[in-house]
Amino acid sequence: MRFKTLFSVISLFLLLAGAGMAYGPDYKEMIAKNGPVPDAILEPPVDEAVASEKSSLLSSIFGSRSISRSEARAKACYANQRVALGAIEMYNMDNATMYKSLVFSDLADERGMLVTAKYLKSPLRTPEPACHLRSYGDLCDVGIIYCDYHGCLPDDQKGLRTASGYTPKVRAAKAGNSNTMLAVFVILGVLSVGVMIVLNNVLPKAPKS
Ligand SMILES: [Zn+2]
Repeated sequence: MRFKTLFSVISLFLLLAGAGMAYGPDYKEMIAKNGPVPDAILEPPVDEAVASEKSSLLSSIFGSRSISRSEARAKACYANQRVALGAIEMYNMDNATMYKSLVFSDLADERGMLVTAKYLKSPLRTPEPACHLRSYGDLCDVGIIYCDYHGCLPDDQKGLRTASGYTPKVRAAKAGNSNTMLAVFVILGVLSVGVMIVLNNVLPKAPKS
């Protein structure tokens, strides 16, 4: 009886997981249609900046949970990407000629097409000078937007990494982090031994009886 309940719970879970997968974009198809995934999506340059901020000595000691400045700017860029995609979807609903591949000046310039046509209230302001939005794939089909510096939205990145069989370099960054931690402990240990030796020599010794 219990087994039966367990079995139905598991099959319900599998069914839900399957349904969830079915509604997500088909990344394998995206790659088959559009060719190799750009490096800026698989391993965006911002990752290195975030890793080096997180492995700095201070954040090793006080914990790297806090959000770094680079991560905050990356979030602002992802917000821009969502706004851009929304504007393009609206444009494609209104117009017979579809907007398929992104031209960044259409979004970022005062006279950009999507700005003058009122699909954006104001030109997009980039959180970092290196920000430049592009598209991968057909934006009226299964296309996504990404940034040269920040890459694409985390869910899309995860899907495209899996579909292209890419192994992220995150492991290396983590190993570096724990090495820094070890170095801190070693330095503290050496210092405390040194202090003990100094104290031993400086303090007056108890008279021999
Ligand atoms: Zn960006």
